Amino acid sequence: MRGGMLRTETFERPFSRTWETGFLSRNAKGRAIDRPEESMPPALSRNSVLNGLPAPTLKKLWPNLRRIHVEREQFIFQQDDDLEFLYFPETAVLSELHMLDDGRMVEVAITGCHGAIGLGSLYEASQTSNCVQATQAGSLLRIESCLLRKHCRNDSQLPLLLHSSLASYIRQISLRSVCNMYHSVEERLCTWLLLIRDLGGQTRLKLTHEQIARALGVYRPSVTSIALELRKRQLIDYSRGGISITDRAGLEAAACDCYYELTSDAASAVELAQAV
Ligand SMILES: [Zn+2]
Repeated sequence: MRGGMLRTETFERPFSRTWETGFLSRNAKGRAIDRPEESMPPALSRNSVLNGLPAPTLKKLWPNLRRIHVEREQFIFQQDDDLEFLYFPETAVLSELHMLDDGRMVEVAITGCHGAIGLGSLYEASQTSNCVQATQAGSLLRIESCLLRKHCRNDSQLPLLLHSSLASYIRQISLRSVCNMYHSVEERLCTWLLLIRDLGGQTRLKLTHEQIARALGVYRPSVTSIALELRKRQLIDYSRGGISITDRAGLEAAACDCYYELTSDAASAVELAQAV
């Protein structure tokens, strides 16, 4: 897999009542540093696809899941990579990007704690058609595709439950194609910021205008101009490398209806994940 450099976390036993994990991070120079231990309640994962599985199914799956941490802008998949793994984001937010012939990339979907990445491997698809990059750093659980297919063969309920996640992904792509065509860049930017905020759970979004421009398929000066206007209206605030939503209700009012459409599928899932 060309988009390597992923770091595997210590494997936790999920069914312990004192589920705690030593969580390593990396500093700006890429060196591993200790992060204070996070105490986790006796829930299984922050990913609602996994949390939605029946307990016996998840119990069988869990020994094959590994927790990893991705940094912002780190690639999970490059285009045409082998689909070796499926990923279930917890706190990480991932962008699926389609690369154009001239090297530009446009975001076609975002996935967070409500979804999964690499679902094509359930259908024996061997390679990715797009890149997948972390828009927000955080944790994911991953499983080898061949192992998940094996579990699916032995548990008829598992593929049905994973199909619902795939259906949600297809609805997102459909809606975003309409959004890109009919809604203004300002509306789309507001919608996108709200989605990233909801999926990642961070109050301060580590984003650059370049990153936002890439996601929306527009030029950076357009993003800078709109961000300035949103800041004047006190909907957001930003400084180098970070954006905060200062008036959520105002930003929702400025977003297109797609925000509500995109979150309706995932609303209960996100709620569940945030409660963990
Ligand atoms: Zn829209």
